[in-house]
Amino acid sequence: MVTIHNLCKTYKTAKGAVPVLQNIDLHIEKGDIFGIIGFSGAGKSTLIRCLNRLEEPDTGSIVIGDKVMTGLNERELRIARQKIGMIFQQFNLFDAKTVFQNVAFPLEVAGHPKTYIHQRVREILDLVQLGDKANVYPFQLSGGQKQRVGIARALVNEPDLLLSDEATSALDPQTTYSILELLKEINRQLNLTILLITHELDVLQHLCRNMAVLEGGRIVETGNVEQFFLQP
Ligand code: ADP
Ligand code: ADP
Repeated sequence: MVTIHNLCKTYKTAKGAVPVLQNIDLHIEKGDIFGIIGFSGAGKSTLIRCLNRLEEPDTGSIVIGDKVMTGLNERELRIARQKIGMIFQQFNLFDAKTVFQNVAFPLEVAGHPKTYIHQRVREILDLVQLGDKANVYPFQLSGGQKQRVGIARALVNEPDLLLSDEATSALDPQTTYSILELLKEINRQLNLTILLITHELDVLQHLCRNMAVLEGGRIVETGNVEQFFLQP
């Protein structure tokens, strides 16, 4: 589903070129929940942002499904991005839009007809158990509810891949647990591939089947989560 080969990324700063990702190789199977764990500054955000080309990698290739992301022009990229959902630590909702409007937004951008949008938004809000919150604004929601809106918006276009950037880091443990359970359920129901980054071992252990450890811009370990934690 996702294959990253020899990905390198350098930031150019006043002090010169700083290598942030070095020779990243990763393969993620369809339907997997794959976690990338690492300390702050390891390069996790940069890596996940390279996947949908919010960052331009210097070298290397990224293939998602049947699309060579690193070979797309702007127009092709806009279309490809519609099939990659993303959720964020700070939810990134539109404060001036209702829950309904937040979730409808990607469908409007994709140019779907109104009747389809109404039906699809209803359906996806039910999936994240927010069917009764369609007409409220983000400020009226708890953190967990906001992230459910984020998840609904990420899923509404039926993506092939869901990217999660520390999606539970701003939530308390109990809410974190319920969001992780929701992601598991979505993975099970839709066979949706999920790639997440986290600095929390608990999140990895609870949610992921496979994992990689990122340290100083390099992958230093990769494997099955259960086996990893069984090791002495
Ligand atoms: P993580 O998500 O693991 O915390 P990041 O990908 O955010 O790591 O950052 C990796 C390294 O790249 C850090 O040292 C960070 O300071 C640096 N960095 C991130 N973004 C930029 C940028 N736009 N310009 C220069 N350096 C950056
Ligand atoms: P308009 O032509 O004014 O956009 P719509 O019927 O599309 O009229 O809807 C207006 C607003 O009402 C939408 O922007 C949306 O926020 C809200 N809305 C529409 N349908 C629903 C619905 N099924 N549930 C909740 N809110 C809805």
